[in-house]
Order: sequence, then C-alpha cells, then structure tokens
Amino acid sequence: MVREHVGVTITTAHQWAWPELHDGQRAVLREVLVHGSRSRADLARRTGFSRTSLTRLTRDLVDLQFIVEGEIRSKGGRGRPSEMLDLRPESAQFAGIKLTGSALYAVVTDLRANVIESVEHELPRSKAVPEVVALIGRVIDDVRARHHRLAALGVCLAGDVEDADGGAEVVDSPFLGWDRVPLQRLVEEVTSLPTVVSNDVQALTVGHHWFGAGVGRSSLVVVAFGAGIGAGLVVHDELVRGARGHPGKVGHLLVSSTESGPVCERGHRGCVSAWVTVPAVVANAGAIDLDDAIRRAGSGDPRAQAAVRGGARALGAAVAYLVDLVDPEKVIVTGEGLPTARGAEDAFLEGLGARLDPASGAVPIDFCDFDFADYAWAASIAAIRRVVQPLDGEHVSAA
Ligand SMILES: [Zn+2]
Repeated sequence: MVREHVGVTITTAHQWAWPELHDGQRAVLREVLVHGSRSRADLARRTGFSRTSLTRLTRDLVDLQFIVEGEIRSKGGRGRPSEMLDLRPESAQFAGIKLTGSALYAVVTDLRANVIESVEHELPRSKAVPEVVALIGRVIDDVRARHHRLAALGVCLAGDVEDADGGAEVVDSPFLGWDRVPLQRLVEEVTSLPTVVSNDVQALTVGHHWFGAGVGRSSLVVVAFGAGIGAGLVVHDELVRGARGHPGKVGHLLVSSTESGPVCERGHRGCVSAWVTVPAVVANAGAIDLDDAIRRAGSGDPRAQAAVRGGARALGAAVAYLVDLVDPEKVIVTGEGLPTARGAEDAFLEGLGARLDPASGAVPIDFCDFDFADYAWAASIAAIRRVVQPLDGEHVSAA
C-alpha cells in the first residue's frame, strides 16, 4: 500500500494475497489458463454460462488483472467479430519445491507455469523436520523479495501423503525418514502461503496433464521411476486420488518368474521393484551407478545387459498392466531411471507386448526427458491448480 505524505512516499509492508475466487470465476480462469486465448462465445460454450453471466465473470477477472481483453478477431470476415480473452501470466507467481533425500529443488513459475527462476539447496544433514521446514521458509522469503505477487506454494516428495484434519500429512517418506509429519500446516506457518503437499508422482501427473506432455488428453498414465516407481492416473480429466490419496502403486506387481530373478527389499522375487528401480538395476548389474550399468551393458558385459534388459522388460510389463486397466489416451514414462528404458527399447516393447491385451491397441508412449526440477515445476502447478479448481469438497487452506 502506498500513501503520499507531503512529498514522501511511505510503503507499508502489505503482502499481496491471491483473492478468494468463487466457482464461476475459477471455471472461466481455468479455461483460459489451460486452453489459452478464448473468445467470449467459445468460453460461454465451454463453461455452460450464459453470455450475460460470462460478461460479468470476465469483467471480474479483468478487474483482478488475471485476464486481459485482447485483439478482436473476425472469423474470415463473416459473423460478428469476437473479442479474445487471454491470461496475464505475470499477474501471479507460484513456488514449487521438490524434496529428495538429500536436496531441495525450488522453482518460481508464473500463472501459466512458465519457470521464471530455479534454485537448488542441499538438505540439512539431519533431515530433521524443523530444519527442513526452516530451510523452506528461507527459500520462500528469498523468492518473495523478488516476486511480489506470490500466490501459493506446492511441495512434493517421494512418499505417501494423506489429507488430515489439520491439512496434508506425510505419512511415510522412506528417503527422508519421516512418518506422520503435518507438513502442510508447518510450511503454511513458516511461509504464510496457502500450501499444497503432494506425492511427487501425483504432482508430476497433474503437471503434465495441465501444461506438459499430456495436455489435451482426458485420460493419461504417467509412470515415473528412479529410487522408486509410481504411477499417476488421469481419468475423465481428473487426477485419480483414490480413497486415501495414494493410487498407482505398481512397485510390487509380479512381472517375471518367481522361481528365479532378483528379490526386492520386501522379499518378492520378480516384482517390478526388484527389476526397474535405479538401485535394482545398479545392484543387478554389479555396477557403481546407473551410468556405469548402461556403459557396461553397451560394451557387452552380460550381467549388466541382463540387468538393463530385465529392467526395461519389467517396466514394459508394468506399463502394459496400467494400459489394460485404465485404457488411457497416452502414457508418459519419465524419471531418473529413463536411461534403462532408452538403453533397451526393444526389451521394453517386448515386455509391453507380452502382457498388453490385443484390444488395447496402439497407445502413444512418450519417453519424456527428465530433470529433478521437473518435480518442483509440477509442485508449482499443484499450487496453481489449488487456486483455480472448484471449491466444493476441497480442503480450503487456513493460510
Ligand atoms: Zn517387491
């Protein structure tokens, strides 16, 4: 807030906050956000609002500076020219954070999920909750100094996240050693930002569905694998949340003989985790890391070849199960384990073909390049989604 006092400008510390939008405003903003520039007529058709309601809703959003009335297009000289409404991406910023067992990746995005900046920090060695939460607080304070319309924060991590009365809780994150941590409440207290806490693969699925490789698909499967493996499912344009918030657990499906083959940490012989995860491929290959395993396989080392081909084949089988269950329009395969799939694409296709139902047909499967910052980008999209999704049935942040 700026006031004039006899030639002196006094700026009071007034933090901008995302306004509480009602469902009608959210629906119109969501359309322009996800589908781009739209005419009023098009928006009326897609949202089901009358032209009168739509005029009022778009005026609200223009007043709030989230959308702008743009150029006037006539359709080939016929009919009434139509005024286009478009997003103002610079009207708000969102922060996204991904926690791994050793690092914090953070990005700032605009309202259209374009990454404006990204940073990386080592986690405190203790990985203790108060220290990690304090680090998140410092990262957000730093971001806020440069981005004055910071609206919300998304945090994602590998592990199970459940909704509880006081906000989302991390019920189990083996890489951080956390159990029953009310992370949403703790982060909201230290940042004063509405915060969404998600499982990282679920966040990545939403990210790809709204702004990534899955845009325009109303059903989608995202498989991400690295230290672990998980799947995110979109059906009828909605992320499948399950009854407890953690669907898509494909890690222990059986994909090879239980008579031979590697054993996972839970004692299953021939399950997905025993073959596909990065630690599994590295151990099965007798290598020091994944690059080493791929290099050895490429130079003809039989043990490494069996590990990489076995990993790719098992991944293909897991994808086949998911395709048969969901019947998606597209599958995205990503994660830091991707070199395994790329190193033995024929084995991946073999594993897929052996289990895919003939009726499932040819589903496009994308091997999508990956960086850890992608998870942070996806977490920021979970934050964007929080402020534009319908209010009913959603936990409204206390922040
Ligand atoms: Zn297992």
